[in-house]
Amino acid sequence: MIDLHCHLDLYPDPHAVARKCAALGAYVLSVTTTPSAWKGTLTLAKEAPRIRTALGLHPQLIHERAAEVALFEQLLPSAQYVGEIGLDGGADFRSCRQQQHDVFDRILRACSAAGGRIMSVHSRGAASRVVDCLLRHPKAGIPVMHWFSGSAVELRRAAEAGFWFSVGPAMLATERGRSLIRLMPQDRVLTETDGPFARRNGQALMPWHVSAAVAPLAAIWSVNASEVAEILHANLRRLIASTPQRVAE
Ligand code: MN
Repeated sequence: MIDLHCHLDLYPDPHAVARKCAALGAYVLSVTTTPSAWKGTLTLAKEAPRIRTALGLHPQLIHERAAEVALFEQLLPSAQYVGEIGLDGGADFRSCRQQQHDVFDRILRACSAAGGRIMSVHSRGAASRVVDCLLRHPKAGIPVMHWFSGSAVELRRAAEAGFWFSVGPAMLATERGRSLIRLMPQDRVLTETDGPFARRNGQALMPWHVSAAVAPLAAIWSVNASEVAEILHANLRRLIASTPQRVAE
Protein backbone atom coordinates (compact mmCIF):
# COMPACT_ATOMS: atom_id res chain seq x y z
CA MET A 1 0.00 0.00 0.00
CA ILE A 2 1.54 3.30 -1.10
CA ASP A 3 0.12 6.75 -0.32
CA LEU A 4 2.60 9.23 -1.74
CA HIS A 5 0.64 12.34 -0.82
CA CYS A 6 -1.30 12.43 2.41
CA HIS A 7 -1.79 15.18 5.01
CA LEU A 8 -1.44 12.95 8.09
CA ASP A 9 -1.15 15.96 10.40
CA LEU A 10 -4.56 17.29 9.38
CA TYR A 11 -6.68 14.33 10.51
CA PRO A 12 -8.55 14.83 13.79
CA ASP A 13 -6.40 12.11 15.45
CA PRO A 14 -3.15 12.03 13.45
CA HIS A 15 -1.37 9.63 15.84
CA ALA A 16 -4.12 7.03 15.53
CA VAL A 17 -3.98 7.31 11.73
CA ALA A 18 -0.19 6.97 11.76
CA ARG A 19 -0.36 3.93 14.06
CA LYS A 20 -2.84 2.23 11.75
CA CYS A 21 -0.63 3.00 8.71
CA ALA A 22 2.31 1.46 10.56
CA ALA A 23 0.28 -1.63 11.49
CA LEU A 24 -0.78 -2.03 7.85
CA GLY A 25 2.81 -1.64 6.65
CA ALA A 26 1.72 1.23 4.40
CA TYR A 27 4.29 3.43 2.71
CA VAL A 28 3.15 7.01 3.32
CA LEU A 29 4.61 10.33 2.28
CA SER A 30 3.24 12.62 4.95
CA VAL A 31 3.23 16.03 3.30
CA THR A 32 2.96 19.31 5.18
CA THR A 33 1.48 22.67 4.22
CA THR A 34 3.78 24.96 6.22
CA PRO A 35 7.43 24.67 7.33
CA SER A 36 6.33 25.38 10.91
CA ALA A 37 4.28 22.15 10.84
CA TRP A 38 7.20 19.96 9.80
CA LYS A 39 8.87 19.19 13.13
CA GLY A 40 5.60 18.29 14.86
CA THR A 41 4.54 16.16 11.90
CA LEU A 42 7.86 14.27 12.05
CA THR A 43 6.77 12.80 15.39
CA LEU A 44 4.00 10.89 13.56
CA ALA A 45 6.67 8.93 11.72
CA LYS A 46 8.74 8.11 14.79
CA GLU A 47 7.83 4.46 15.10
CA ALA A 48 6.85 3.91 11.49
CA PRO A 49 9.87 3.56 9.20
CA ARG A 50 7.61 3.48 6.15
CA ILE A 51 6.15 6.91 6.91
CA ARG A 52 8.29 9.74 5.57
CA THR A 53 7.64 13.39 6.27
CA ALA A 54 7.92 16.02 3.56
CA LEU A 55 8.76 19.68 4.16
CA GLY A 56 6.18 21.84 2.39
CA LEU A 57 4.75 25.29 1.80
CA HIS A 58 1.35 24.99 0.12
CA PRO A 59 0.66 27.52 -2.67
CA GLN A 60 -2.84 28.16 -1.30
CA LEU A 61 -1.29 29.43 1.95
CA ILE A 62 1.30 31.74 0.41
CA HIS A 63 -0.81 34.87 0.97
CA GLU A 64 -0.40 34.43 4.73
CA ARG A 65 2.69 32.22 5.05
CA ALA A 66 5.15 33.54 2.45
CA ALA A 67 7.53 34.63 5.20
CA GLU A 68 7.96 30.98 6.20
CA VAL A 69 10.05 30.38 3.09
CA ALA A 70 13.06 31.37 5.24
CA LEU A 71 12.20 28.59 7.68
CA PHE A 72 11.82 26.22 4.72
CA GLU A 73 15.38 27.02 3.63
CA GLN A 74 16.65 26.55 7.16
CA LEU A 75 15.00 23.10 7.57
CA LEU A 76 15.68 21.78 4.08
CA PRO A 77 19.12 20.26 4.84
CA SER A 78 17.41 17.81 7.23
CA ALA A 79 14.45 16.97 4.97
CA GLN A 80 14.75 14.13 2.46
CA TYR A 81 11.37 14.88 0.89
CA VAL A 82 9.68 18.12 -0.11
CA GLY A 83 5.94 18.80 -0.46
CA GLU A 84 3.43 20.12 -0.76
CA ILE A 85 4.80 22.87 -2.95
CA GLY A 86 3.78 24.33 -6.30
CA LEU A 87 1.39 26.89 -7.77
CA ASP A 88 -2.39 27.23 -7.63
CA GLY A 89 -4.16 29.06 -10.46
CA GLY A 90 -7.57 29.14 -8.76
CA ALA A 91 -9.55 32.39 -8.73
CA ASP A 92 -9.27 32.60 -4.92
CA PHE A 93 -5.49 32.78 -5.17
CA ARG A 94 -5.11 35.07 -8.17
CA SER A 95 -4.14 38.08 -6.07
CA CYS A 96 -1.04 36.30 -4.76
CA ARG A 97 0.02 34.83 -8.09
CA GLN A 98 3.33 36.70 -8.26
CA GLN A 99 4.07 35.92 -4.64
CA GLN A 100 3.39 32.21 -5.28
CA HIS A 101 5.84 32.33 -8.18
CA ASP A 102 8.53 34.04 -6.13
CA VAL A 103 8.20 31.54 -3.29
CA PHE A 104 8.09 28.49 -5.58
CA ASP A 105 11.17 29.75 -7.41
CA ARG A 106 12.99 30.31 -4.15
CA ILE A 107 12.04 26.80 -2.94
CA LEU A 108 13.31 25.25 -6.17
CA ARG A 109 16.55 27.21 -5.91
CA ALA A 110 17.00 25.96 -2.34
CA CYS A 111 16.32 22.36 -3.44
CA SER A 112 18.91 22.72 -6.21
CA ALA A 113 21.48 24.11 -3.80
CA ALA A 114 20.75 21.24 -1.39
CA GLY A 115 21.52 18.66 -4.08
CA GLY A 116 17.95 17.88 -5.18
CA ARG A 117 14.91 16.40 -3.48
CA ILE A 118 11.90 14.25 -4.29
CA MET A 119 9.11 16.84 -4.47
CA SER A 120 5.33 16.39 -4.30
CA VAL A 121 4.00 19.17 -6.50
CA HIS A 122 0.60 20.88 -6.65
CA SER A 123 -0.33 22.39 -10.03
CA ARG A 124 -4.11 22.96 -10.01
CA GLY A 125 -5.00 25.49 -12.70
CA ALA A 126 -1.31 26.22 -13.23
CA ALA A 127 0.14 23.13 -14.91
CA SER A 128 2.06 24.95 -17.66
CA ARG A 129 3.51 27.50 -15.28
CA VAL A 130 4.54 24.77 -12.83
CA VAL A 131 6.25 22.76 -15.59
CA ASP A 132 8.01 25.96 -16.76
CA CYS A 133 9.32 26.65 -13.24
CA LEU A 134 10.47 23.06 -12.77
CA LEU A 135 12.25 23.09 -16.12
CA ARG A 136 14.09 26.25 -15.09
CA HIS A 137 15.44 24.34 -12.06
CA PRO A 138 16.54 20.97 -13.44
CA LYS A 139 18.74 20.30 -10.40
CA ALA A 140 15.90 20.77 -7.90
CA GLY A 141 15.27 17.03 -7.92
CA ILE A 142 12.47 14.71 -9.00
CA PRO A 143 9.02 16.27 -9.21
CA VAL A 144 6.03 14.04 -8.54
CA MET A 145 3.03 15.83 -10.01
CA HIS A 146 0.26 15.21 -7.50
CA TRP A 147 -3.37 14.91 -8.72
CA PHE A 148 -2.43 16.38 -12.09
CA SER A 149 -5.43 18.12 -13.65
CA GLY A 150 -3.94 20.02 -16.59
CA SER A 151 -4.54 19.31 -20.26
CA ALA A 152 -3.28 16.30 -22.20
CA VAL A 153 -0.71 18.55 -23.88
CA GLU A 154 0.54 19.79 -20.52
CA LEU A 155 0.70 16.25 -19.22
CA ARG A 156 2.80 15.12 -22.18
CA ARG A 157 5.20 17.96 -21.53
CA ALA A 158 5.59 16.92 -17.90
CA ALA A 159 6.02 13.28 -18.89
CA GLU A 160 8.61 14.15 -21.54
CA ALA A 161 10.52 16.14 -18.92
CA GLY A 162 10.81 12.92 -16.90
CA PHE A 163 8.43 13.95 -14.12
CA TRP A 164 6.50 11.42 -12.03
CA PHE A 165 2.80 11.38 -11.15
CA SER A 166 0.78 10.38 -8.10
CA VAL A 167 -2.87 9.52 -8.66
CA GLY A 168 -5.64 8.51 -6.30
CA PRO A 169 -9.22 7.36 -5.89
CA ALA A 170 -10.58 10.90 -6.33
CA MET A 171 -8.82 11.36 -9.67
CA LEU A 172 -9.73 7.86 -10.81
CA ALA A 173 -13.39 8.54 -10.09
CA THR A 174 -13.70 10.90 -13.06
CA GLU A 175 -13.43 10.09 -16.76
CA ARG A 176 -11.19 13.12 -17.24
CA GLY A 177 -8.85 11.88 -14.52
CA ARG A 178 -8.73 8.40 -16.01
CA SER A 179 -8.03 9.75 -19.49
CA LEU A 180 -5.03 11.69 -18.13
CA ILE A 181 -3.74 8.61 -16.30
CA ARG A 182 -3.88 6.67 -19.58
CA LEU A 183 -1.31 9.15 -20.93
CA MET A 184 1.09 8.78 -17.99
CA PRO A 185 4.16 6.55 -18.36
CA GLN A 186 3.25 3.48 -16.30
CA ASP A 187 6.75 3.27 -14.85
CA ARG A 188 6.42 6.75 -13.28
CA VAL A 189 3.03 6.46 -11.60
CA LEU A 190 2.44 6.08 -7.85
CA THR A 191 -0.71 6.18 -5.75
CA GLU A 192 -1.90 8.82 -3.29
CA THR A 193 -5.03 9.84 -1.41
CA ASP A 194 -4.56 13.58 -0.65
CA GLY A 195 -6.55 12.82 2.48
CA PRO A 196 -8.15 14.33 4.39
CA PHE A 197 -8.79 16.99 1.69
CA ALA A 198 -9.87 14.47 -0.94
CA ARG A 199 -13.16 12.82 -0.16
CA ARG A 200 -15.17 9.87 -1.34
CA ASN A 201 -18.91 9.55 -0.73
CA GLY A 202 -18.70 12.60 1.52
CA GLN A 203 -16.01 11.03 3.73
CA ALA A 204 -12.38 12.14 4.03
CA LEU A 205 -10.10 9.59 2.40
CA MET A 206 -7.85 7.72 4.84
CA PRO A 207 -4.37 6.59 3.69
CA TRP A 208 -5.50 2.95 3.48
CA HIS A 209 -8.30 3.95 1.08
CA VAL A 210 -5.52 4.23 -1.49
CA SER A 211 -6.26 0.57 -2.21
CA ALA A 212 -9.41 1.79 -4.03
CA ALA A 213 -7.05 2.97 -6.79
CA VAL A 214 -5.93 -0.55 -7.63
CA ALA A 215 -8.97 -1.84 -9.54
CA PRO A 216 -9.35 1.22 -11.79
CA LEU A 217 -5.58 1.23 -12.47
CA ALA A 218 -5.79 -2.46 -13.38
CA ALA A 219 -8.52 -1.61 -15.89
CA ILE A 220 -6.49 1.26 -17.39
CA TRP A 221 -3.31 -0.80 -17.66
CA SER A 222 -5.07 -4.03 -18.68
CA VAL A 223 -3.36 -6.02 -15.93
CA ASN A 224 -4.64 -7.74 -12.79
CA ALA A 225 -4.64 -6.31 -9.26
CA SER A 226 -1.49 -8.10 -8.13
CA GLU A 227 0.35 -6.84 -11.20
CA VAL A 228 -0.72 -3.29 -10.29
CA ALA A 229 0.77 -3.78 -6.83
CA GLU A 230 4.00 -5.09 -8.37
CA ILE A 231 4.23 -2.16 -10.78
CA LEU A 232 3.63 0.38 -8.01
CA HIS A 233 6.18 -1.18 -5.65
CA ALA A 234 8.77 -1.42 -8.43
CA ASN A 235 8.10 2.25 -9.22
CA LEU A 236 8.52 3.25 -5.57
CA ARG A 237 11.80 1.33 -5.31
CA ARG A 238 13.05 3.04 -8.48
CA LEU A 239 12.01 6.49 -7.27
CA ILE A 240 13.79 5.99 -3.96
CA ALA A 241 16.86 4.55 -5.67
CA SER A 242 17.09 7.66 -7.83
CA THR A 243 16.86 10.01 -4.83
CA PRO A 244 19.20 12.83 -5.78
CA GLN A 245 20.78 13.46 -2.40
CA ARG A 246 20.69 11.27 0.72
CA VAL A 247 19.89 13.10 3.93
CA ALA A 248 20.67 11.66 7.35
CA GLU A 249 17.22 11.67 8.97
MN1 MN B 1 -2.55 17.95 -0.84
